[in-house]
Amino acid sequence: MPPLCSHFAALAAFPARPARAECPECVRLGDTWVHLRQCLSCGHVGCCDSSKNRHATKHHRATGHPLIRSLEPGDEWGWCYVHEEGFDPLPAAPR
Ligand SMILES: [Zn+2]
Ligand SMILES: [Zn+2]
Ligand SMILES: [Zn+2]
Repeated sequence: MPPLCSHFAALAAFPARPARAECPECVRLGDTWVHLRQCLSCGHVGCCDSSKNRHATKHHRATGHPLIRSLEPGDEWGWCYVHEEGFDPLPAAPR
């Protein structure tokens, strides 16, 4: 596993996985998405860059929150937007 970037070290814990597997912003728009990503800073759920609305990346741009993880079943990876680095698998907890 590659060394985790400094953003992971700054996290106290990962957010809980959402109860509903959906992109709330797409639901509001009446739109669809491809895959779901979760912000590890605040727990925001958004859709991936293969989705039309790219809400996960928009959330990063709007907030500067650096880290996401995939919420797809079986996926264990995370991604740092700032370092442009992926981590697969993510450790169970940042520390
Ligand atoms: Zn980073
Ligand atoms: Zn979306
Ligand atoms: Zn966030």
